[in-house]
This record gives sequence, structure tokens and C-alpha cells, in this order.
Amino acid sequence: MNVPLLDLSPQYLSIRTEIDEAIQRVVASQYFILGPEVEGFEAEMAEYVGVPHAVGCASGTDALLLPLKALEPRTGDEVIIPAFTFFATAGAVWNAGFTPVFCDIDPVTFNVTAETVEAVWSERTRAVVPVHLFGQMAPMAEINELARERGAVVIEDAAQAIGARQVPGARQAMEVGGDHEAERHSGGDNGQVMAGAAGDVGAFSFFPTKNLGGFGDGGMVTSHDDELAEKVAKLRVHGGRQMYHHEMVGTNSRLDALQAAVLRVKLPHLSTWTEARRTNACRYHGGLEELPQVTLPETLDGNYHVYNQYTIRAHRRDELREHLTGKGIGSGVYYPVPLHLQVCFRELGGRQGQLPETERACREVLSLPIFPEVGQERIDRVVDEIQSFYEG
Ligand SMILES: *Cc1c(COP(=O)(O)O)cnc(C)c1O
Repeated sequence: MNVPLLDLSPQYLSIRTEIDEAIQRVVASQYFILGPEVEGFEAEMAEYVGVPHAVGCASGTDALLLPLKALEPRTGDEVIIPAFTFFATAGAVWNAGFTPVFCDIDPVTFNVTAETVEAVWSERTRAVVPVHLFGQMAPMAEINELARERGAVVIEDAAQAIGARQVPGARQAMEVGGDHEAERHSGGDNGQVMAGAAGDVGAFSFFPTKNLGGFGDGGMVTSHDDELAEKVAKLRVHGGRQMYHHEMVGTNSRLDALQAAVLRVKLPHLSTWTEARRTNACRYHGGLEELPQVTLPETLDGNYHVYNQYTIRAHRRDELREHLTGKGIGSGVYYPVPLHLQVCFRELGGRQGQLPETERACREVLSLPIFPEVGQERIDRVVDEIQSFYEG
């Protein structure tokens, strides 16, 4: 029995009729650019996240790029981002015209904290982009407070965290396993804030591997700020609401109507799929918690983790990965190279040893199959193979 890292087919097959009808609806209308499907999905996302504005765009990368461009950077203006994230976070900052400044992470959650952000703050800091890595939100209350005091904008990279939420201010560590039931029941409306509604702006991706995945690229910007949302809506259509009148130099970055139609079918199923991911996380926890060679992901108290990835730390990570591959089990290393050490950012002067927790994470992390339909049997198989690798 092989276990792929991700298999998108069972999800499609479970809602095939609805999806095929939605695609057919768009094809029949011949309305492909913006229009009713995109507007409908924007309204549904705004309601889901709990913000007044949601603006669809071409990708998660552009959902970061457009609000950053809206800040109209001057040369040398800085944006603080984690060194441990997908490259898009840094690429968007750079392409918007900012200088990315990399900060370290909390070893427990892999996320930035107010402390790691503050450690690299400067006179030139204009914005912070906390990334809700693997599906757990960064501590937003503290980061917001720091940014507000110093007049910077907070843009959440929520690409991996649609549906994640947190009780503002909660930050005590809690393990996934034993207290899982308690965490589960905290998933409600008791003062929690959703990813994408916790900062000034939120950026989502609908890349197929994300928790809400389209049939191609897609993204969404969420915001509380009327003016910023309006600017983003202009920037995605070459900088003007009215055709052939341009107030800014924007670009072409729209959410495709076909993608919007697919995503509108999927959004009502998201909470069921997220709960399946969380159940899978519990299964791994039950199977692996006694193994001293691995460290399991922890959820901070007050956080609702949506497990876009189930990421452990493992002794002899590369050998373990090779062993799993040999047994037909997929796994992933997110991410092997820290951003401050990427060749393209050499001129920024990053050096080995600068951000020790990021660099250690790059050596130790391994993501295991967690997609909603993976199921108990295949998880047991993964657990058995990890055990047999260490116990011989
Ligand atoms: C996927 C991802 C992005 C970019 O999304 P795309 O839709 O692929 O452009 C940005 N940030 C993080 C953390 C991601 O995981």
C-alpha cells in the first residue's frame, strides 16, 4: 500500500457533479473575467473570514504583492518576514520594491513572534508579514500591538491557513494529543479571530495543494481597510477602476471566473475537510508520541490549527525520508534552505548562523501525508515505517 504525500482525486470525486455543473455554468455564460462568479465568491470569502472586503487575484503570491505595492514603497523601505517560509513571501516583498528583512522563528510553532520581529526592527520598517506556517496562526495580538505602536502595517500570509483561528492573546503551549478534545471544542465563536481578519490585510492562495484548492492558480486579499481594498482592486486591473483611466501603474492579476466557480462549490465543504485533517493529526500523535527521535507539532493554547502540513522534526531526517520513499511513502521538506541564505538575496548579506532556529528547522523538518482522505489505515502504515526505521 503506497501512501502519497497528497492525492487530490478523492476530494474531486466526492463533489464531482456539483463541480462539473459549476464549470458548465461558467462556460455557458461565456463570462470569464471577473463578473458574477468572482463577485459571488469574494462576498462569500469576506463573510467566511469576517472582513468587509475580499478581492480576488491571480495567485497567493499576488495577494501579497498587490497590498505591498499599495503601500507605495520608497527605495530602502523594509518589510519584516520570517526566513522560514515559502519563497513567495520574500519574492512578493522584493517585487513590490521593498527590502526584505528576515527574522527568526519560535522553535515550537515554526512561526514568527513579536520578539523575533522586534529583534530586526529598524527605522525603515514599513510592514510586517507574519506567515501562519503549516496552518497555525502566528501570535497576532502581540505582533499587531508592536506594529501599531510603531506605525507599520501587518499583512498576514494566510496561504496555508484558511479557516485557522485564534483567541487573541492566547499563547501557552499545548500539545495536539492529550488536550486535543479541549482544543477542538475551542473551535467556535468565543472571541476568536480568523486568519486573514487578524491583521490589516490577509493574503490567501487557492493553489491546488492548499486547504481550499482551485483547479489552477488563484488568490484573495482580505481587508478591514476600505481605502487599501479599493487600491488593491485597482492594482489588479492596471491601476484604474474605469477602463483606460489609470491612477496607478498596476498589473493584470484577476481571479479567474472558472476558478471562482470551483471554489464556491468547495468552500462549504472546507470545515469538514479541515476536521478530517485534524483527526489525522491526532492519529499521528497517538502513533508517534512515544518515539524519542521525533518531535511532534504543537498547537498553542487558543489556536485552531488547520494542518495544511503535518510537520515533525526528525533525527537523521534525510535518511528517514529516503527510507520512507523506498517504502512508497511520500513526504516533503518544507523548507530545506532558509531565505536569508538564498543565492538571489546574497546582496542582503545573510550569513550562516544568523537565524539559528530557522537554520535548525531547515535541517530537521519533515512533512507527512495529512490530506483529509488519507485515513487511519495509511497513517498506521506511515507510523509503522517510521518506527521500524528507528527501532530497526
Ligand atoms: C503557497 C504559498 C504562497 C503563494 O501562493 P501561490 O498561490 O502559490 O502564489 C505564499 N506564501 C505561502 C506561505 C505559501 O505556502
